Amino acid sequence: MSRVLIVGGGTAGTAAAEECAMQGADAMIIDRLEEPEPPWASWPDFLSSPEGQGRAVSGPVTRVDACASVRGTEIIAVRKGEAVASNGSLFRADSLVLAAGSRFEPPVAQGLRKPGSFVLDSAARYKELGSASASADRILICGEGARGLQVAERLSVRGTKVSLMVSCWQPAKPSPPVLEVISDAARARGISLVTGRVHRVVGLARAEAVIAGGEVVPCGALAFVPRRIPVTVPLAGLLGRSGGVMVDRCLRASVPGVFAAGGCAELDGSLPPGVALDGEARLTGRAAGANSAGANVRISAVRSWCLTVFGLRWSRAGPDATTCGSLGMDLRAIGRRWHEDSACGLVYERNTGRVIGAEVVEPAGSPSAGLGCSASGSATLKSLAYGCTGSSDISAISDTARLGLTSWSGC
Ligand SMILES: Cc1cc2nc3c(=O)[nH]c(=O)nc-3n(C[C@H](O)[C@H](O)[C@H](O)COP(=O)(O)OP(=O)(O)OC[C@H]3O[C@@H](n4cnc5c(N)ncnc54)[C@H](O)[C@@H]3O)c2cc1C
Repeated sequence: MSRVLIVGGGTAGTAAAEECAMQGADAMIIDRLEEPEPPWASWPDFLSSPEGQGRAVSGPVTRVDACASVRGTEIIAVRKGEAVASNGSLFRADSLVLAAGSRFEPPVAQGLRKPGSFVLDSAARYKELGSASASADRILICGEGARGLQVAERLSVRGTKVSLMVSCWQPAKPSPPVLEVISDAARARGISLVTGRVHRVVGLARAEAVIAGGEVVPCGALAFVPRRIPVTVPLAGLLGRSGGVMVDRCLRASVPGVFAAGGCAELDGSLPPGVALDGEARLTGRAAGANSAGANVRISAVRSWCLTVFGLRWSRAGPDATTCGSLGMDLRAIGRRWHEDSACGLVYERNTGRVIGAEVVEPAGSPSAGLGCSASGSATLKSLAYGCTGSSDISAISDTARLGLTSWSGC
């Protein structure tokens, strides 16, 4: 029976252990925490119920009762067939799965630790903001956009006046028509959404305003939503753009016998290269677990993602135009707002018309138009406009692809 060591007992590590058990391998999880943290999906619940326990993460409950685990032990280095812990212990195995997750990038603005300012980097800080927001009449949320939207939604339900200042988007920036739909839905709930970066928090005894883009923006309380970056595991293999362990589509790192999944991994053969696997921890954990036990599973090169906020469902497959542009890729983007509450954006290669990124925003309650064939990585504007089965023929995607064809003649 092969022996697999899994570093990290979160979403990816648990999925890997479950898969090892199915494959008949002997898996052991090592985690640095004595007790698991409340699931991240429940953290925004603490804004409306600071005393609550948060809800369980949706999805099937993973059962890894048979798997041995060592808690309260931090792994500081990984080599072929072994992992070294900070207390000097050495763990040996036939293969290793790194599932150490992501961490928050410390924000750089000055004064963020003033009273009345909350850097949302733990469940405890969400609870503190939840308690403080009861007496704040105006809250400014700044930082990462996708999680910021969810925080803004929860706080606005309580009747607080909320502004959201977005400095970055993870995993991808919405195209202009998609952002327009989201901004209008936010406005309808009394939330103003702007792009900007806070340079400094000002106030005598507590946060009273921020300086952003040379302007003073008053606020009763400030919530900063930091970006997430991979946890780095020394010696585990070559590292990607964000410091995560680079893996191929079988989740293999460059060191033989070492696999990585979830937030600590970056996919080499993806579009764009080095995309983080944070949002697909369960799927990639499962694949890494299977492969560490001897299987040969390959994940798709295209990453997908979905967020429900303000009664809208915002789905994406593949990269956004801004990220591709920053990597020097020769691409074009096309997008349109089709209705008050729906829009679509496509990113395609200028020379070939191959669609490498697609996103749709639509009412959350409606049947999903689905990203369908656009998520395959091999679709073109032409195939989406005329030949792609599997999604509705009134799909915003095929209409947007048709629109793209009119401005591009290379297909
Ligand atoms: C606030 C927040 C909001 C998020 N929102 C979303 C969202 O809306 N949608 C989405 O798709 N994803 C979201 N994520 C990302 C989320 O982290 C991933 O989807 C998923 O939970 C990552 O799973 P993981 O197994 O890679 O990491 P985790 O579940 O974080 O597990 C990593 C585990 O590894 C352990 N560990 C770390 N380093 C070591 C070490 N050196 N030695 C031993 N153990 C170690 C940690 O203690 C932890 O238990 C969010 C994350 C956070 C924190």
